[in-house]
Amino acid sequence: MPKLPGIQVVRSSIHGYGVVATRDFAELEEIAEVDGVAWREDEPVDDRYSLWIVDGIYMDMVDQTRWINHSCAPNCEIEADIDENGNAWARIVALRPIQRGEELTYDYAFPLELAEPCHCGTPNCRTMIIDPDELPRYQKLMARRRSAAARRQQRGTGTRG
Ligand SMILES: [Zn+2]
Repeated sequence: MPKLPGIQVVRSSIHGYGVVATRDFAELEEIAEVDGVAWREDEPVDDRYSLWIVDGIYMDMVDQTRWINHSCAPNCEIEADIDENGNAWARIVALRPIQRGEELTYDYAFPLELAEPCHCGTPNCRTMIIDPDELPRYQKLMARRRSAAARRQQRGTGTRG
């Protein structure tokens, strides 16, 4: 696949590989169009690098953009939709001015079912990669699990929570 101009995959200080800007970008400037393969919820695919496009439609990212890391304080966002021909599209847009050399990030905003620990290291890190709207539901779930574990302990039937 051709290399996208303006971005480069590098080893990341956040996690694994990441993507940095190789030039400055202005606020709201398009950084890259995502090349990807659209799929429906009921199709079996490799969805590890998939974007949610609209209800039931996802796009597996197949270019360098798939290496962009999550951050709870991102400098980019994804715009995505279905065009008039029914084709899914997505693009990476700068949320603020970005300088050459900065690592690009966007908020993965995973649903509760897919939430995983976050290591973005930003001051307001949600500790989990999760949609902010799902956070109250997540915290309630964790509180329930903690009290269930505590009850098991009290009865002496639990080993480890
Ligand atoms: Zn975080």
